Amino acid sequence: MITRTEFNTARKRAALLLEKTGISLQPEELERIEVADFSLGELEQTGAEILTLVNTEKIAVKLIVLFPNQTLPEHKHPSLGNYPGKEEAIRCEWGVIYLYGPGKPVLEPKGHPPGHRKRTYTMWREEVLYPGDQVIFPPNTFHWFQAGPEGAVCWSYSTKAVDLQDVFPDPEIQRGTVIVDG
Ligand code: ZN
Repeated sequence: MITRTEFNTARKRAALLLEKTGISLQPEELERIEVADFSLGELEQTGAEILTLVNTEKIAVKLIVLFPNQTLPEHKHPSLGNYPGKEEAIRCEWGVIYLYGPGKPVLEPKGHPPGHRKRTYTMWREEVLYPGDQVIFPPNTFHWFQAGPEGAVCWSYSTKAVDLQDVFPDPEIQRGTVIVDG
């Protein structure tokens, strides 16, 4: 849960970071940046600011903005009926991203999930993404990522996104964001 003021502030911060990338965006697109706090109310630590540019029955294109050291928590995109689940490419556009998926765990990770939630993070194979670097996750594969100290902007190119169906190992997480007065 976040307040309307927190929401508006986060959206403005995200728009400023997007401006730094030089990506051409319409003013009305900046008005619909989604602020996801994953229902934890700890937006600075766990959250993501997401601008969905395309989401059809087949493809999705999103820009994901992370504030400095902000973590997009571990999740996967499950199969749904006949749909095998979202396959997703994460491509760094600006800043640095510490990204984790299945495979051999790194000994000294550069990314640090919020300490009180660390036990819910299970993926520790590390990729450090700089602008122009990308990684592809097959459907149903857990992954998470964190911005470096300056924040980050990345692209998410994927098959159809059904965000509310994403699966999170952290039982306290819910994908929707509740915004309250204040
Ligand atoms: Zn994902």
